[in-house]
Parts: sequence; C-alpha cells; structure tokens
Amino acid sequence: MAERINIMGVPVDMVDYEEALARFKTFVEEDGVSLIVTPNSEIVVNAGKNEELMEAIKQAEMVIPDGIGLVYASKILGHPLRERVTGIDFLGRALAYLAETGKTAFLFGSKPGIAEKAAARMEQAYPGLKIVGTRNGYFKEEEEEGILREINEAAPDLLCVALGSPKQELFVLKYKDRLNAKAAIGIGGSLDVWSGDLKRAPEFYRKHGLEWLYRFIQEPSRYKRMAALPLFMLKVIFSNKSQVTAED
Ligand code: UDP
Repeated sequence: MAERINIMGVPVDMVDYEEALARFKTFVEEDGVSLIVTPNSEIVVNAGKNEELMEAIKQAEMVIPDGIGLVYASKILGHPLRERVTGIDFLGRALAYLAETGKTAFLFGSKPGIAEKAAARMEQAYPGLKIVGTRNGYFKEEEEEGILREINEAAPDLLCVALGSPKQELFVLKYKDRLNAKAAIGIGGSLDVWSGDLKRAPEFYRKHGLEWLYRFIQEPSRYKRMAALPLFMLKVIFSNKSQVTAED
C-alpha cells in the first residue's frame, strides 16, 4: 500500500500515475466498491470546513493528489509527492485499461447530453471500451433511488461521477454499501472536457502547473477561486509551523 501523507488533516496517497493505475487494477478485481477521490487544494480547504467531505476522503481507498498546490504543500511538509496526478489524466489511463480488458464504465453527471457525447468520444479514443450507461447530474433527492437502480443494473466496473465537489464525493459515500460497481471516482468537470464543450489548458500551461492561470484568462470571474492557491500555501505553512511548535 502506498504511503499516505496528511495535508491539513486530509490524507493523500503518495502515488504517481503508474502506482495509481496499479492500484486501480486491483480494485476492479476485488469485491465491493473502492472509492477514488482526487482532491486539489480547494477541496482540501473545503474538507476542513465540511465534515462529511472529510469523512468521504478518509473512507476512500485511494486519494490522488490532483493539484500543484498539493505537490508544493507536500514539499513544505517534508514528504514530497512524486508528481501531480490529475484526475482527468488518471481517468484516461483507467479507461484505456478498461478498454484493453473488455471492462465497462458508467458516466454519471454534467448537463443533459454531455455524458452521451463524452461516451462516444471515449469509445472512439479507446476501442473496446464499453460505456454501459449515462445519466445527467441534475436530479432531485427523490430521484436518487432510480439513479442507483440504473447504475446497479448496468453493473459497471468503473462508475465516473461528475457532479463537482463535494456533491460527487457525498453521493458516492452515501451509497457506498449499495453500489454495484468495482470502483467509483469523482471526476469534476472531466465530462465537459471529454464532450468537447470545455477546452483543457494547452500543454504549456499544464506542464508548468499553470492551469489556474489559463482558467483565469478564460473565465476572469473565477478570480475568487484562483486566490485559493496562494491562500492554501500560506495555510499549509502556518499549520506546519504550529505543528512543529506544538511538538517542540
Ligand atoms: N454538475 C452536475 N450536477 C450538479 C452540479 C454540477 O452534474 O448539481 C456538474 C457540472 O455540470 C460540471 C461538473 O459537475 O460538469 C463539475 O462542475 P464544476 O466545474 O463546478 O466542478 P469542479 O470540477 O470545479 O469541482
């Protein structure tokens, strides 16, 4: 099992892509559903304020460090993560594995029509992949049982939940014991990217950990969310300092 570090109370697995995929392969062979969460710094901060979200992350079988903020934080804390493992890139590798082995996925979330478009593009990108069901992510609580039934009848190996955080983590936690899937992962806005409705940051931004800058240029109204990264770094530094002082 991969080493876990603790970033402001949130467990994060020290996995790189290779190890994350190796663990995913074991999840799809095992009984029961394994939860995969992909926190970035914003989610770590939110988990500090939302007990249910924190619980969902703690119960997850794998916590992938999706965010340059977590990589910086791990360095500050003296346990450097090997690399940033983005949810969307990990998803691509997981889908490629499912395709190779004739396994299946279900896409749940995003606006009506998006999951179907994403499914068509995924099946094209990974020949052999079977998307066994789709469902948009806009529903009332009383519809949840019906959604659960749809997912369970399709019995996917991987359930992809694209409801944004914390909705996606809370949905999976709520139904963990009743889900007929081998693994479930929260994938945020990944279906919007797969469907072609949202552009991913170009290679340059991705390589340098500057997706936040690209998103800011595209959507300046997100500036409040952008401020989260420097604030997060300060919080990590101070939480680390207070830990060290407490131990001294
Ligand atoms: N979404 C959804 N149901 C909801 C709220 C959001 O399916 O009730 C979808 C939304 O359409 C988008 C995805 O969740 O595809 C992620 O949203 P956002 O970009 O806000 O989340 P983030 O990835 O930034 O956490």
